[in-house]
Amino acid sequence: MLFSEIIGQEEVKQRLLQTVKDSRIPHAQLFLAAEGSGALALSLAYAQYISCPGRSESDSCGKCPSCVKYNKLAHPDLHFVFPIIHSKDLKVSTHLLPEWREAVTDNPYMSLFQWYEFLEAENKQGNIGVEESAEILRKLSLTTYEAEYKIMIIWIAEKMNIAAANKLLKILEEPPDKTLFLMICENEDQLLRTIVSRTQLVKIRKIEDNALKQALVDRKGLSPADAMRIVHLADGNYNAALQLLSENENAAFNLAAFQELMRAAYRFDTQKVMAWVGNMATIGRERQKNFLLYALHVLRESLLLNYSGPQLVKLEGEELAFIKKFAPFVNGANCEAMINELNRASIEIERNAHPKILFTDLALKFNELLNIKQTAAQ
Ligand SMILES: [Zn+2]
Repeated sequence: MLFSEIIGQEEVKQRLLQTVKDSRIPHAQLFLAAEGSGALALSLAYAQYISCPGRSESDSCGKCPSCVKYNKLAHPDLHFVFPIIHSKDLKVSTHLLPEWREAVTDNPYMSLFQWYEFLEAENKQGNIGVEESAEILRKLSLTTYEAEYKIMIIWIAEKMNIAAANKLLKILEEPPDKTLFLMICENEDQLLRTIVSRTQLVKIRKIEDNALKQALVDRKGLSPADAMRIVHLADGNYNAALQLLSENENAAFNLAAFQELMRAAYRFDTQKVMAWVGNMATIGRERQKNFLLYALHVLRESLLLNYSGPQLVKLEGEELAFIKKFAPFVNGANCEAMINELNRASIEIERNAHPKILFTDLALKFNELLNIKQTAAQ
């Protein structure tokens, strides 16, 4: 990670660079940061900079053997400790290094929840257990391979349990020579006071709006206006911005896919239906299920519009314009069957149904149902 890849945070960057220029790198630093502000990314850029023999005034060279290894998060003098879900066979984070490298490379701004999600353990609580302290000592007792310093990054340090924190405290009191601890903490109150008092505090603020906007424009190709809309909701959290972006993209995709299906199914335009089915078959099960949920939402909103009036419909823009046009096709004679079809399709996707058959079937059913008119009795 280069400093130039960090979003915003100019002040902290300068402060970290200065410690290297002055040859006064504190041996234990606590990066206190809000989620999504880039503390892990900063610690990686800092560690890489310290280890890079070809560094300039402001950044690592990015090309030397040390930087190349840092890029893969696989430098022999760079060590990590992070929360894991403990089990009989899994007690230290070293065992999950390949997964960790993959997740961090993919998103160095990831949240703890996303890490658990990556481990497919979103409902479990992980921590940094006492076994980790022996592992830290073991790693730090290894001779330095290539760099001047051994660097230990502890991510979400407040997840250390008391026993682990007490052992770490002993290590911090008598630090091994040429060792740097970079600890990242999101909730200072959950960390032992004695640990906080033995570290140099580096406060990392939320990302400035302008920097966040520019990152969305440069990295995600958004227009400045679209980027600004996301920035207003993301509150300085790059990770939250990414999530909002993918929700937006999904919502736009779902609306367009629903419109296409209804138009093609109403008159059963075979060519259009088959093109739609072909597209839907390739998007993967999660997005297929997500689309069906969205279709249920459209039906619900259409019913609300028809039977309760517009005051209960909380939609806007393109979606509202579409639902106003679509709602007259939803009525007492067909809405229950439509809902049943969507629910059934969703269950069949979970059971691994063949997507082309399933979506062709759905289009046929909707052709039939959309053409059912409300009868006078209803
Ligand atoms: Zn370098």
